[in-house]
Amino acid sequence: MRRCYTVEDMRQWLADNNAYKFGKTKTVGFVPTMGYLHDGHMSLLEQSKQDNDLTVLSIFVNPLQFGPSEDFERYPRDEERDLRLAELCGVDAVFLPSVEVMYPHKPLTTVRVSAIADVLCGASRPGHFDGVATVVSKLLHIVSPDRAYFGMKDAQQVAVLTQMTADLNLDTAIVRCPTLREEDGLALSSRNVYLTPEERDQATVLYASLQTLQQSLKEQRLSVAQAEQLLAASLREAPLAIIEYAEVRTFPRFGQPSPHSCMQDIIQQGTTLLAALAVKFGTTRLIDNMVYAPDRE
Ligand code: AMP
Repeated sequence: MRRCYTVEDMRQWLADNNAYKFGKTKTVGFVPTMGYLHDGHMSLLEQSKQDNDLTVLSIFVNPLQFGPSEDFERYPRDEERDLRLAELCGVDAVFLPSVEVMYPHKPLTTVRVSAIADVLCGASRPGHFDGVATVVSKLLHIVSPDRAYFGMKDAQQVAVLTQMTADLNLDTAIVRCPTLREEDGLALSSRNVYLTPEERDQATVLYASLQTLQQSLKEQRLSVAQAEQLLAASLREAPLAIIEYAEVRTFPRFGQPSPHSCMQDIIQQGTTLLAALAVKFGTTRLIDNMVYAPDRE
């Protein structure tokens, strides 16, 4: 497994492997991460390995997507462990740029995806998706992969990046991958290590609420407003949960459906809906979501 620390290294490795730009003979799958790898990241890498000749992983904690009072400094990092896991997984190359490599000077050019990026996590974390879109756009230009893999745990991120690649005619397909969970339903996340044992116990409430909604939708007609109330009520069963948002949105545009319309009717008419949650336990912010698609029973 090749470790690349600079843009030139990365591109040279791709060129040496007939996987860079025009005339290349190998397909490249790319999995961008912030490291501290878990099975969710591994599932993206496995999917990439299945679909492509070569798989490139990047590990970069991107300062641009953290707000001033967020956890950039203390974000968990363990490069040696990540590299061991990547090697075991059969990753072909890892791109490990420093902040100086990615941002030798403060960029004057940033990528901003409007509308989708302004609601939910975009509203509570101003500038977050500009940081994500900017760094992913840079990474896609550096690696020029055929496919890039993203987890649906970050559904809004997937939507923002799919829109970005379409709007900018980027030659990379964005592949959505399902959310991997612990046995008790908690979505895997690098940030789960921040949780105290008590918070960790109660954090199962996110997925439990989404499942409660899913079950209720099978049993009774629910308006969007009722669904949101049901989500909030189930989340409140965990005394430590501080709700940031619990909303139903259209997917992938993240529009707000009319609160009085019936969720089942909207879905039946062909619109995919998504229930999205952001909940804080102490200083740890967790997100989760569930998609309700037209063809779903
Ligand atoms: P991160 O390192 O948190 O930036 O995540 C890197 C990629 O892994 C993103 O595309 C995430 O959506 C994805 N990811 C994170 N957690 C999970 C999970 N539990 N299941 C599937 N993918 C995930």
